[in-house]
Parts: sequence; C-alpha cells; structure tokens
Amino acid sequence: MATTETALVGTLSRISGPMIAASGMLGATMGEIVRVGKLGLMGEIIRIDGDTVYAQVFEDTGGMYLGEEVHATGVALAVELGPGLLGSTYDGIQRPLITLQEQSGDFIGRGLTAVALDREKRWAFTPAVEAGAEVRQGDVLGTVQETITITHRVLVPPGMEGKLTSVAPEGEYTVEDTIAEFEDGTKLTMMHRWPVKRPRPIGRKLPSDRPFLTGQRVLDCLFPIAQGGSAIVPGGFGTGKTVVEQTLSKHCDAEIIVYVGCGERGNEMADVLTEFPELTDPNTGESLMNRTILVVNTSNMPVAARDASVYTGITLAEYYRDMGYNVALMADSTSRWAEALREISSRLEEMPGEEGYPTYLAARISEFYERSGRIVCAGKEAETDEPRVGSLTLVGAVSPPGGDFSEPVTQTSLRVAGGLWALDASLAYRRHYPAVNWNRSYSLYFSELDPWFEENAPAGWRDNRQQAVQLMQRDAELQEVVQLVGPDALQDTERLILEVSRMIREVFLQQNAFSDNDAYCSLDKNAGLLRALLDFYEESRKVLEQGVSLNRLLDLPIREDIARLRDVGNNEFAERRDDVVANMRGQLNGLIEKKG
Ligand code: ADP
Ligand code: MG
Repeated sequence: MATTETALVGTLSRISGPMIAASGMLGATMGEIVRVGKLGLMGEIIRIDGDTVYAQVFEDTGGMYLGEEVHATGVALAVELGPGLLGSTYDGIQRPLITLQEQSGDFIGRGLTAVALDREKRWAFTPAVEAGAEVRQGDVLGTVQETITITHRVLVPPGMEGKLTSVAPEGEYTVEDTIAEFEDGTKLTMMHRWPVKRPRPIGRKLPSDRPFLTGQRVLDCLFPIAQGGSAIVPGGFGTGKTVVEQTLSKHCDAEIIVYVGCGERGNEMADVLTEFPELTDPNTGESLMNRTILVVNTSNMPVAARDASVYTGITLAEYYRDMGYNVALMADSTSRWAEALREISSRLEEMPGEEGYPTYLAARISEFYERSGRIVCAGKEAETDEPRVGSLTLVGAVSPPGGDFSEPVTQTSLRVAGGLWALDASLAYRRHYPAVNWNRSYSLYFSELDPWFEENAPAGWRDNRQQAVQLMQRDAELQEVVQLVGPDALQDTERLILEVSRMIREVFLQQNAFSDNDAYCSLDKNAGLLRALLDFYEESRKVLEQGVSLNRLLDLPIREDIARLRDVGNNEFAERRDDVVANMRGQLNGLIEKKG
C-alpha cells in the first residue's frame, strides 16, 4: 500500500514504562507508527497534544534516554497478508518467532525487524482471470495451494478496481512478484498490507443460521453458538479456559484457526508451540498447523504488544474469511489485553473508569467482537460468478480476578458476545471438566439454530435437550430438599432423578480433553449418549411404577455399561450403544419378571 514519505522527527521527552512522549511532532496522526530511539523500537501514537505525541511502545523501553530521536513513519500498524501465513507463529506485531530466534537466540532482542512473509519462497500460482478482465476488490485473481489442505485465493486487495492489462501465466512466484497489472500501471502482488485496527470490507452480513460445532457435548448440546457468532469463556485461575481454547482449536469445525495467546504465562504457550505441530487435524489427517496461525504474546513480553496481538490476530482471521473460509479466532486471554489498556491509560493519566479500566474499554471490546460474523465476501468467484460466503467465529477467554464475574471485563464482554460458557471453580475442584456451569451459561442463538439442528442433527435432538434440562432443573430443586431434610424424605422416583442427573453430569457433561476417544464427540455420539441416559431414566421409571425398589434397580450392572459408552470411539459408538440399550431393557424387564 502507498506509504507517504515523511521526514518527521521529534525528540523523546518522556518514558513511562511502555508509554513514551515525544515533542516536535506536529503533523503526526493518531494510530501512526513511530520508531523510537537508537534501537528504532516500534510504537503507535495513541494521543496527540499540541506538538507532543504519546505512543505505546511494543518493545521494552528500558535503557532509552530522553532526547533520543523519534521518527514518524506515516503508516498505521499493519500486517502483511499473503500466502505463507498458515503454519506460522508470530509475535504481537507479526514478526515470525522463528526468524527472531535465529537473529537473537531465545531472548528476543529489541528493535529487530523481520518480515512476516518469506520473500524468497516461490508459490505455484494458477491464474483465474485473463488480461482484459474488469475486476474489483475481493475478486479472485488466482489460487495458490498454501498447505496440503488449504487453497489460498489471491484476491484483488480492498479499495482496488479496474481493467487488468496483464495477468501472470501459471508458474512460480514470490509474494513480491507482479501477478497482475491494472490499466493505470498499478501492479498487484500476492501480498498486501492492511491496517489492523480497520475491519476489512465485506459484501454484507448474513444471519447466523448454522452452528459452530465444537465436538464438546456440553457446548454443542446445551449452549451452541452460531458459525460467525461469539462466545466468552470466563473462569478463575485453573478452571480450564486454556484447555477449552486449545481443545476447540483442535476439534471445532472451522477450516482455519487463529490462536492468540495474549499475556498468559509463557509455559502455556510453550505447550501450544510444541503440541500443535504434532497434532493431526481429525478431518484431514494432516498436521493441524496446516490450518493454524499462532500469535503469541506472553506475560513476560511488553504489555503494549498485547493490544497489537489481538488486532493482528483478528485481521489475519478476516483475511481468510474473505477467501470464503470458516475461520475461528481463539483469544486467551482478553483480560490480559484489557489490563494492558488499563496500564497504558493510567500512564497517560487519563480519567479512569470502573476499576481503573479506561472509559473506552467497552467500546474497544465491542468493536472487537463486532468483527465476528457470517458474511457474503466482497468480490466474486471467477469461475462461477457466485458470491463467496465466509465466517469468523470468536471465542474469547476472560480471566476475572478471583473468579468474580461482576468485574468490568466480564460484564462488558457479556453484553456483546452471543454465548456465555461460564467456567466454575467448584466444578473444576471436583474435576468436573469441562467445568462449564450449566446453570449460569447460556446461548442467545437457539432460535436461529433450531431449524438447522431439526434438519441436520440426529432425530429428537431438541426434545432430548429439553428433557435433559428439565431433569437437571428438577435435580437442583430436589438437592435443596435433601439439604434441608435429608435424602430419606424423597420418594424412589425422586431419588431416581438425582441418580440420573448424576449420570448426565458424569457421563454426558464431563468430557476428557486428554482421552483419544472422548476428546472429540460427533453429533451422532452426542445425541446417542444422551438418549441412552434418558432411555435409562424412562425405562427405570416404568420399573419403579411396577413396584420394584430403587435399590434393586441401582444394583444392576447396566449403569456401568452406560457410563463406559462415553469412552467408545465415534465410529464404533452406534453399534455399541444399541447393544447396551438392548441389554438395559433386558435387565430392567428381568426385575419386573422376578417381582411378578
Ligand atoms: P486456566 O487456563 O483457566 O487457568 P487450564 O486450561 O490451564 O486453566 O486448566 C487447568 C487444568 O485443568 C489443566 O491442566 C487440566 O489438568 C485440567 N483440565 C481442564 N479442562 C480439562 C478437560 N476438558 N479435561 C481434562 N482436564 C482438564
Ligand atoms: Mg490459561
């Protein structure tokens, strides 16, 4: 993109942690990138006051001196977009971690610049249009097989249109080679830059009428969100936020994953960095990294870079959405981003809002979530002239201090996200994982999604869900009675409800993210497992009505067999389930016969 040449140089007049001020900067603009001091550290102008600018600096400002030069660059914080993003691991300002490591060893030096996309690598480009074509933003110029599983559509960058005078023939090109040229002489390459704080243009928003499937029983059944929707995952320390984000990255049905590790401990990100490349995508059998981009900004990295990492991540996600992919962005944790905003704001001596967070916290968070959605992409498919549809689903972890959801980041996020997956310390303490609290969590997408489930999910999906929810509610009421007057006050039919609810919690709602057979649950297994539990309930009630005592019923070995269904793989599940259910009917009928 066009870079305005500026020779604007100011003087460093203040250094306060990640925030600096520079005087003599008349003419600099909000959001403009500056290079600070001898090391040329990268910063972003976030406030202007006369000829003084204030900037957040994305690298450690230690050891700088007042009076050093500050250079304005004339450009906003932007990312490079083109083939080669998938499989990469970037820091908050899109520097590839591997290149940085090669330059400076394990402790990343300051002021290093590294391009995001490899300039030497040659990509096999197949053109989709010919010279003479009239194209506009988002139209497909050609394709590149970026990874084994993902075809990269090279699109006309936003804001460009006209008649092409030449298109490169099929062949191998670097991201800087010209692959097409407009009448006015403008050259197009496979790469362009985009300012991260500006949402990329779309055709139009579409209703969210299909689910974002996670492979997690409790989420898909009780709290499904829409493809292009958003959910927040708040929870105290150790409740399983990171495991949820990582499990979804592996098993959700998005085609592209952008994982933003923001401000969390380095060892958690180290797990992701070592684990992801070894994992295979269950849908394709290929490495998970083929469809994944990692953006990493750990707690020991400068706080301002957290702000950058969130925007870098969502811009990369939008870029693949624009190609017509279903993309999911996982952000862990948005609270660390909010804390960075708070720190910078306090250094700027701004008027603080609630709990010291800046008054614009809510605006920033909602702008972020508003970048999710299911859309008709800008531009057309060359071959078919059909519009493309893409989506960006957003799942943001929130780490409320002390697990108290009334704090500003959780509350603000709740107002803009369509789903709440509330993690609960007491469930985690009992090792009920995922520790999703079924009373506090919710989804706002049911009315949009029910028709999809009606048509595509196993028969009875909605009834099963309703029946399970009713049982759990009845269970909660009965638990209160037990608390007050003890279990003896309950009748057998009521004790059966307690028993079946316990089975639903342990067998259905719990799911082991570290078990090969259990980590991912298909919709068929999801429905089949719940139905088996509900069948057990209904059949058992009939047996109790025949005068059989609950204790005899609970002694039956069948309960164990039902519990073990959870660990049966998705492919073997249906057959095994039918056996178990048949066996169950046999055992229960046996009780009635003995009684008779
Ligand atoms: P947080 O990010 O909320 O601090 P983590 O995601 O790191 O918490 O989870 C803490 C621990 O809880 C994990 O190391 C793991 O042992 C356990 N855990 C969380 N979710 C699951 C799960 N679905 N299955 C099994 N264990 C889990
Ligand atoms: Mg965590």
